[in-house]
Amino acid sequence: MSGRSAILAIDQGTTSSRAMIFDSDTEIVALAQREFAQHYPNDGWVEHDPEEIWQTTLEVSREVVQQRQDLSIAALGITNQRETTVVWDRQTGAAIYPAIVWQDRRTADVCARLSASGRGEIVHDKTGLLLDPYFSATKIAWILDHVDGARERAERGELAFGTIDSFLIWRLTDGKVHATDATNASRTSLYNIHTGEWDSELLDIFNVPAAVLPSVKNCDDDYGTTAPGILPIELPIRGVAGDQQAAAIGQCCFSAGDIKSTYGTGCFVLLNTGTEAIRSDNKLLTTVAFQLDGQRSYALEGSIFVAGAAVQWLRDGLKLIDSAPQSEALAQSLASNEGVYLVPAFTGLGVPYWRPDVRGAVFGLTRATTPAHFARATLESIAYMTHDLFAAMARDGIEPKSLRVDGGMVANNWLCQFLSDVLAIEVIRPRVLETTALGAAYLAGRSTGVFGDRDNFAALWHSQRQFFPAMEELARSKLLEGWHSAVSKLVD
Ligand code: ADP
Repeated sequence: MSGRSAILAIDQGTTSSRAMIFDSDTEIVALAQREFAQHYPNDGWVEHDPEEIWQTTLEVSREVVQQRQDLSIAALGITNQRETTVVWDRQTGAAIYPAIVWQDRRTADVCARLSASGRGEIVHDKTGLLLDPYFSATKIAWILDHVDGARERAERGELAFGTIDSFLIWRLTDGKVHATDATNASRTSLYNIHTGEWDSELLDIFNVPAAVLPSVKNCDDDYGTTAPGILPIELPIRGVAGDQQAAAIGQCCFSAGDIKSTYGTGCFVLLNTGTEAIRSDNKLLTTVAFQLDGQRSYALEGSIFVAGAAVQWLRDGLKLIDSAPQSEALAQSLASNEGVYLVPAFTGLGVPYWRPDVRGAVFGLTRATTPAHFARATLESIAYMTHDLFAAMARDGIEPKSLRVDGGMVANNWLCQFLSDVLAIEVIRPRVLETTALGAAYLAGRSTGVFGDRDNFAALWHSQRQFFPAMEELARSKLLEGWHSAVSKLVD
């Protein structure tokens, strides 16, 4: 033990940069957040300004460290939006193109071509991922092919690629460290999750020169120290994980069979499968859950593109509610959905459909339909989509007995209860809902002893409320039948 008592966690997300300080009891004792601009320069394109990502990250980090000068901060952990791609100049540290965000679809044609030439299987075998624009590889190649001279400069070793964690580490250490962790590496499509190395065959397929790549480390490795003047104090960077993996760690999903679901803008389910990388036949992704002491643990991952975003749409698009929490009272005001089903496939459907082309719809409208029906149907749809994801997992042979939930949406008690009813399993909401930042803090605290060992950290995790299935099986199957009938009208 160093005798120091707190950890700084940076959570660099898709819409905002946040910094938090956790004390040794995992309580949040300081928090700062800054939103930044989303850029949509073309249909299907999504970009961030890397300088804005850096500046907002720096501001929030400085703010919380300044606020809690009374604490002794032992280390810094980073968690980040995954897959988002930055290429920068190794001399100046300046990005040569905006960050291409994970949601960006500009490389759909490249993926379609690779798929048509039969590369999907190799990519799936080695990376556990599907051939999709979502992942970093085609984004890197796009930048190298569209910025003047970039490919030649990359081949000469003048340029560096990184997901946001690498970019922040580079900036925090003033260019001394070019590294990423195994979870972020596992989202690039260039990293062989079985051997734990960048894979030359994948580099060839995606046409990415090895010279741009960061080194890949354990999640709790030594990532250098913040350069003088960056933060009010110099801090060792000792924890890194992509946001969904960090959330699973923050939920203490350390053992095979542990599962969490995060309900934020979208929904991400991660199931720890231990040291075995399970290959899904049902469009779930296989990914690195974490790598500690050179040992990789794996996870199966499924995503629902739209979760909380559908509630935002009720509020900002349709203006049917004034605030997201109001959806709860409205849903509860009805005894049933009265046959109204909403499929919020605004950007397509995720697992198990994986149909980016499909768009949303509402079914069962009558003159009696009110905003309450829309609110209820929206919340119900999140539970049904989770059910379909669980059904895909069940086809892969996995049937969880309980689910740990987090993210902004799970403040909604009605949703948590309905989720438990539809999944027919226990749903557990933890005391600390900031599980993503907590996961990064755990990793950074691991080598510095702030939270003690893993068992001690797990003992600090407390359930705030449990929800148990209470719906009759007949009612449940009728609802699911209604939902599947609605979805089938869109995907057939
Ligand atoms: P992210 O990290 O993706 O930005 P958060 O975890 O902060 O998202 O969750 C915010 C989302 O949760 C928003 O989309 C919002 O609409 C939704 N949300 C917040 N509170 C509630 C609530 N009480 N009921 C339903 N949805 C909610």
